[in-house]
Amino acid sequence: MPILSCNCSCRHCFEELDGRRLDDTQWQRCFEGMLALATRSGCCTLKVFWQGGEILCLSPDSVHRGLDGAEQVFRDSGIAVEHYLQTNLLLYDTGRWKDVLLRFQNGNVSSSVDFPNVYRRAGSRSGDEYNRYWLEKKNIAERDGIRVSVIALPNSETLELGAQEFYRYYRDELRVRALQVNLPFQGNAGPPVVLDLERLSAFMVELYETWLRNKRDLYLSPFTYFEDRIFGAKITLPCIWSYTCAKGLVCVGPDGQTGQCDCLVATRPEYNYGSFLEGSMGAVLSSPNRNAILDRPLRLARETSCGECRFWAICHGGCPIRALAFTGNIQEPDHYCQVYQAMFSAIVDRTVTPWFVSDTSANPITGKQNSST
Ligand code: SF4
Ligand code: SF4
Ligand code: SF4
Repeated sequence: MPILSCNCSCRHCFEELDGRRLDDTQWQRCFEGMLALATRSGCCTLKVFWQGGEILCLSPDSVHRGLDGAEQVFRDSGIAVEHYLQTNLLLYDTGRWKDVLLRFQNGNVSSSVDFPNVYRRAGSRSGDEYNRYWLEKKNIAERDGIRVSVIALPNSETLELGAQEFYRYYRDELRVRALQVNLPFQGNAGPPVVLDLERLSAFMVELYETWLRNKRDLYLSPFTYFEDRIFGAKITLPCIWSYTCAKGLVCVGPDGQTGQCDCLVATRPEYNYGSFLEGSMGAVLSSPNRNAILDRPLRLARETSCGECRFWAICHGGCPIRALAFTGNIQEPDHYCQVYQAMFSAIVDRTVTPWFVSDTSANPITGKQNSST
């Protein structure tokens, strides 16, 4: 996260966009820190997710220097480095950015668009104008050989419109081939975005059924991941459903501060792990804040309803920041528990009983009998 500035002003943004950015002379040091961390963690492949703020608010030269710095630092390390980019794309133009974006995963980048667009804003554009402008930029980028996948956050108007219209919009109007639906949590400005969980559950199940009826003609996350997992494919689930995101992920802020997640590093410094550039890597890895997230699944399994959940082995209590945002406590189950259970049940109902569901066996951690939801 080398920059906390953005050309947009979205109401549901969870970043504190205070203008901080990585000093352009620090790229090399920053990647040396990542190398030290990766080496201590026994990592073979390091995935670097570039996000802000907005990365295209940096200069193209600066991003090139960052990518070059990584190449130099990791050259003889035995650790492979993959770079991924998250961008709102609105500042894209061929002359300045084509060569830069083609350096990320062979030109595969991720962007964000909501439908209907209630919260995303750039200057004086309305929500619809924002989406039309985004589509123009996507078309230009695609003509330049860049493939754009999309993250969408549902809002209350999305739930009104329903999953079929949502699906049609992304597939037919935006011509998106890979879509990831994320569930929102409070932003740092304006009133919180709180969705009715019953309606959101019904929407996600309807979305899954729409996807099946359309013969899975989009790459639709999280359903693609869940089905792969259920059928035993060796895939990495999105961080939310990993056993603990603290094991394999760390976020680095523009001034070298580390923490679990972009939203924590940018807005909740009390949860940080320490400075990446100043402190030792051992101190970062043994930070009490990191240990609290590492211990979270065990505590949830012992102390909460997660211990009796038949979906424990695929969910592990969900996302710590979504627990924190809605309950004020990282050590609670994810606020979207009900929605996850509805999604998991919908998938299970349409498949043979997968390996992780059992109504009779005991939870391996607590010894409690699993409940059927
Ligand atoms: S949500 Fe993304 S695009 Fe919108 S203001 Fe925040 S960082 Fe910028
Ligand atoms: S806190 Fe949530 S969003 Fe952040 S890395 Fe962990 S699981 Fe992912
Ligand atoms: S679905 Fe809910 S109860 Fe089950 S593991 Fe996830 S958060 Fe816990």
